[in-house]
Amino acid sequence: MAQIRIENVRKEFGSFTAVQSSTFTIEDGEFFMLLGPSGCGKTTTLRMMAGLELPTSGEIYIDGEEVGMKPASQRDIAFVFQMFALYPHMNVRRNISYPLLSQGVPKAEVKTRVAEVARILRIEDILDKPVGGLSGGDRQRVALGRAIVRRPKAFFMDEPLGALDAEFREHMAEELRALHDRMGATTVYVTHDQLEAMQMGDKIVVMNHGVVEQFGKPQQIYDWPATKFVAKFIGSPPMNFLDFDGMIGIGGDRIELAGKTVEVPVSREGATGKLTLGVRPENIVFSDTSTFRGRVIATEYLGTTQIVTLATPNGDVKARTGSEHVINPGETIGLEFDRRTLTVFEERGQALLS
Ligand code: ATP
Repeated sequence: MAQIRIENVRKEFGSFTAVQSSTFTIEDGEFFMLLGPSGCGKTTTLRMMAGLELPTSGEIYIDGEEVGMKPASQRDIAFVFQMFALYPHMNVRRNISYPLLSQGVPKAEVKTRVAEVARILRIEDILDKPVGGLSGGDRQRVALGRAIVRRPKAFFMDEPLGALDAEFREHMAEELRALHDRMGATTVYVTHDQLEAMQMGDKIVVMNHGVVEQFGKPQQIYDWPATKFVAKFIGSPPMNFLDFDGMIGIGGDRIELAGKTVEVPVSREGATGKLTLGVRPENIVFSDTSTFRGRVIATEYLGTTQIVTLATPNGDVKARTGSEHVINPGETIGLEFDRRTLTVFEERGQALLS
C-alpha cells in the first residue's frame, strides 16, 4: 500500500504545457480518480506518477520518498492498460505467472500466488485455457490478475474499461471496486466518464487544460463545485447557470429571484458585476407563488423522474421533477431554488462560497 503525493508537478512537451503545476495527495488505500475531458492531461499525470514520463519540474513522492526521476521498474507499482495486453500464445496461468517467473520468484511460490489471485478474481476454472478464446471480461480479469500477482504498492489504470460495451462496463466497474475493497491497495484510475468517477472513486481530481480544477470526495465536488467547469462537467443534466448583471437577490429560507436586489449569498467582498447563479436540476422546485417564472420548452420522461426545460429571463434551465406531474410545453411555471444548494460563480468561473 502507498501514499502518493505530487507537488507542483508540471509537464511540457516542447512549447506545449500538458500539465500545469499540480499538487495533490492520494492517501494509502484510496481508490483515486483522475477525471477530465480528452486531452486535459490526466494520462500524462498518471504516467509521471508511474515513472513512464519525467516531469519537467516538481516532485513526486511515494510513501515519502521522492521518485520523480526513478524509472517505473523501481517504483513497485502495476499498470493496467486499456488494451489488456496479454501474451496470446500463452494460457491464462502462464500469463498471470509471467511477471513472477521473470522476477525469479521460486516456482512453488508462483503456484500459490497464482492460485490466490485466481480465487480473488474467480477465474480458477479458466486457468488452463488459452487467452485467445476468452471473452472481453475474462481477458480483463486475466490482465488484472497479472497486475495483482506482483503485490505492488499501487495500481495505475488508464481507462481500463474504455473498450467495453456499456452494460459490461458497469459490471466490471463494480467488480473492480469490490476487488479494491478486498485488497485495499492504492489505486489511481484515469477516466473521462464523470459517472464512473462518482460511482467508483473515494476521491476525484478534476482536470481541464492541464489544470487541476478541484480535488475532493465525489459528494463535495458535486455539491460544492469550485469552478463553473466542474459544475458543468459533473452531473447529468449538468448544473444550470443563470446569468445576472449586477446582483442576485435572495431572501428568506427559500429563494425567489424577482428582479435585482442587493443580497448575495457570499462572504467575499466585491462579489458584484457579472455573476452566475448555479443550481442543480433536482434543486429547482415548482411553485405557484414564485415571481421568477419560466416557460416550458420541452419535457423528457425518465421513468420515476422527468427533465423539464424552461426558458427564463436569465437563460434556459433544466429542472428534475417527479414524472407524476403533468407538464405541458408552452405552460408558464413559477420556480424556487433551495438556498442551501446554490452556488454563485464570478465572471472568471470561480465559485464564491458562502
Ligand atoms: P485522453 O483521454 O485523450 O488520453 P488525457 O487527458 O489523458 O486525454 P493526455 O494524454 O495527458 O490527455 O495529453 C494531454 C495533452 O498533451 C494532449 O494535448 C496531448 O496531445 C499532449 N501530449 C501527450 N503526450 C504527448 C507527447 N509525448 N508529445 C507531445 N504532446 C503530448
